[in-house]
Amino acid sequence: MSRLLHRISRRVEEMSHLRFTIYDLRVFRQFARKWYIINRKLLWLLQIVVTLVAVQLTSISAIAEQRFPPPDFTETNHQLPITTTPAARAEWLQYLDVAVLFACLGVAVWLIYRKRSRRGVWALSVFSLIYFGFWRQGCICAIGAPQNIILGLFEPSYTVPLTVIAFFAAPLIVALFAGRAFCAGVCPHGALQDLLLIKPIKVPLWLEHALGVLPFIFLGFGLTFAATGTGFPICRYDPIVPIFRLNGPGLLIFLAALTLVLGMFVGRPYCRFLCPYGALLKLTSLASKWRVRVTPDICTQCQLCENSCPFGAMREPSSGTVEPKFLKADRRNLGWLLLCVPVLIAGGAWVGGELSVSVARLNPTVELAERYINQQKSPANYGVMTPEALSLQRAERDPEALLKAATDLRHRFWLACVVFGGWVGLVIGVKLVSLSLRTLRTDFEPDRGACFACARCFRSCPQELVRIGQMPASELPARNAAQLAAAAK
Ligand code: SF4
Ligand code: SF4
Repeated sequence: MSRLLHRISRRVEEMSHLRFTIYDLRVFRQFARKWYIINRKLLWLLQIVVTLVAVQLTSISAIAEQRFPPPDFTETNHQLPITTTPAARAEWLQYLDVAVLFACLGVAVWLIYRKRSRRGVWALSVFSLIYFGFWRQGCICAIGAPQNIILGLFEPSYTVPLTVIAFFAAPLIVALFAGRAFCAGVCPHGALQDLLLIKPIKVPLWLEHALGVLPFIFLGFGLTFAATGTGFPICRYDPIVPIFRLNGPGLLIFLAALTLVLGMFVGRPYCRFLCPYGALLKLTSLASKWRVRVTPDICTQCQLCENSCPFGAMREPSSGTVEPKFLKADRRNLGWLLLCVPVLIAGGAWVGGELSVSVARLNPTVELAERYINQQKSPANYGVMTPEALSLQRAERDPEALLKAATDLRHRFWLACVVFGGWVGLVIGVKLVSLSLRTLRTDFEPDRGACFACARCFRSCPQELVRIGQMPASELPARNAAQLAAAAK
């Protein structure tokens, strides 16, 4: 009898455990389902990326197309593809580009702030994509312009065309007043990614913050190379331009395909995590006079606008008051972080200075001078006329000028690398400080720097729909209650 009772009590205990498990599953059902979907999407994305990498690796022989002298295909009669770059444009056409840019910026501001029309911004994006993207083939563009400006400052013999100055300055000036209106519908890079977006995945905030420093670092990197006359890496490694030109080196075509595939599931990956001009626009729009508002009326905090933003630019209201003990701890942390900033800058500058000699070798003049010096020590025998041999032969004609130019460049590189290292330290330091700051927000608000002013969130807001007469005000309480219930689930 006692055995039977013991068995029954064990069974009851097991049943209660089972009930607990089912209850548990119910509670976490939403959470688990969400993570299952996100993980499935990520897995799918990973598969596509792996396939693209595999395709690129199998076609690695295509890189031979970049060789100098080019390979001989006499047996197969293969014709080497010709890489095209846009032809020089007549002056009046360059001014036409500037006029179109000004007009598009004006229309963008009007559509975002006056008409508050997503459809209008979409139509403008299509126009910009066709005009600045496929017709102008991504050149002239604002993204590469900072490199021209910096080279013009460091190299007196280099003249920056007025049109480039206009493309550099106009979007930034507009951003000072109206945020990222340029990104909303004028930049062809942004327009392409915006139009391709199919099913956006929410990027975790920590990852967004971590990757958010990359555009600033890439900007510093591009300016370092441009200031030393080594090249324009921002243009050279632009993954969108090959799409506009339907042409480009193998590596860039691969990057373009990767960006396109990624852009279908991650909102504007290039804009958010790489664009150096976007970094400048982010800074200027932090000080903008007007800012994007989801609704000029009352925010009921239904969270619909946050869900409608595919770029993670919407910020939640801050949670009430903070307890004094937490406030004290926050202040102490902030103090430590502020002390860390000069250390990071100094450390970065030191590392930059140390690396400057190696980095300077990426400059063709410095590299040639080093080869020349080495050749003097042990003369080499060049059978085949490689580009290096050809350059050395030419260097023989005026070695003094070559060595002097290389020495000047080394100094310039040292300075540029020290500044770049310090810049990287500053960027990381400021990011850490900004993360430790609390921003007081009473409503859901777009982050001024991160918001692309795409106008997607406007029509997601029930208050806004009532304001513009697309929904009767009487429906508002029922809709809000439904939203709050859905949010609470
Ligand atoms: S972030 Fe850069 S690429 Fe994106 S829209 Fe703005 S300027 Fe263009
Ligand atoms: S306007 Fe700004 S906050 Fe609204 S959806 Fe677009 S990027 Fe997001």
